[in-house]
Amino acid sequence: MIPISQPFIDDRTEKLVLEVLRSGQLARGIMTDELERRFSELIGSNHAIAVSSGTAALELAVGKTAVPGAVVVTTPFTFVATINAAIHAGATVRFVDIGADFNLDAAELESLDDDRAKVVVPVHLYGQPCDMFAICDIARRRGWAVVEDAAQAVGARWDNKPVGSFGIGCFSLYATKNVTTGEGGIITTDDSGLAHEVRMIINQGMESRYEYKMVGTNRRLTDLQAAVALPQLDDLSELIDARRRNAHLLADGLSGLPGLETPIESPKSLHVYHQFTVRITGESISREEFCQKLARQGIATGVYYPRVVLDYDCFRDHPFVEPAQVPRARAAARQVVSLPVHPALETRHIERIVSVVREVLDA
Ligand SMILES: *Cc1c(COP(=O)(O)O)cnc(C)c1O
Repeated sequence: MIPISQPFIDDRTEKLVLEVLRSGQLARGIMTDELERRFSELIGSNHAIAVSSGTAALELAVGKTAVPGAVVVTTPFTFVATINAAIHAGATVRFVDIGADFNLDAAELESLDDDRAKVVVPVHLYGQPCDMFAICDIARRRGWAVVEDAAQAVGARWDNKPVGSFGIGCFSLYATKNVTTGEGGIITTDDSGLAHEVRMIINQGMESRYEYKMVGTNRRLTDLQAAVALPQLDDLSELIDARRRNAHLLADGLSGLPGLETPIESPKSLHVYHQFTVRITGESISREEFCQKLARQGIATGVYYPRVVLDYDCFRDHPFVEPAQVPRARAAARQVVSLPVHPALETRHIERIVSVVREVLDA
């Protein structure tokens, strides 16, 4: 079976994890310090703070920028964590529809008129950056904060500027993400005051040992986790190149196939292809059949995401979620399928995926 994702682990990873085990320092220590240093260098932000998950990063970032009851504007076509984090931070969530690239549409955002809005959360879905110039321009004119959900987009750039450096950056290091620690997250910011506060909040509100400055919590990452990510960051540009190469081979091999649309890559973006996501648009085969036929030929697929967040009862009926008309997001949710694109794939795997997809759609 060709899997949809595969974690990057080699003897450097084993050596570093063993080093942590032998050091006796299992919680935060030099590995986490190093992980933060690498992230702040990579994103070009003054601060990078390691936290326990991408969801924790989002919850902290939204919690620091939106007073309870403020409206947070985001896309309905995202992983549920984006919405859960905003609701837990006390915000009311309002959706604007997506564009052809699956990301929050800046023109829709421009036409939104809501005085309660305080924060916008663009999600760089599948590793493709949102149009950050347009979004930041709207946010600046209206005095909104920008919290980037960059969970899927470590290393992605918009016009050569790294995602996570336009607003407060929130990254996930979950097991299937492009850079992983199993579970983990990173917050990036240039704001020293915010960084200081976040560091306190995630560590029980302590400024120094047993000096509590505020009500805090525990959202810390450990050295055992941080060690797993370091070799992936050593090799990040090669890993991104491999994803992009695989994506371009898939796009070329599948171009012009009736009933299938390959993903759009904006010329302004460095798309890091967390997922290579096509749309099944024809009448001849349903998405479910398409996925089943690929599975029978040994190719795993993923549907990210089968419904827009708004269409689950627990969100539709939630007092902190506003109803919305989002036809383009709903259409995407019906059509999308992701094909394997990860860096462990070789050219022969890509060729096999292309030939099986062509055969399945021809039938
Ligand atoms: C994975 C993901 C998150 C949440 O990250 P966790 O580390 O799993 O908490 C948030 N948003 C998006 C778009 C994601 O893909």
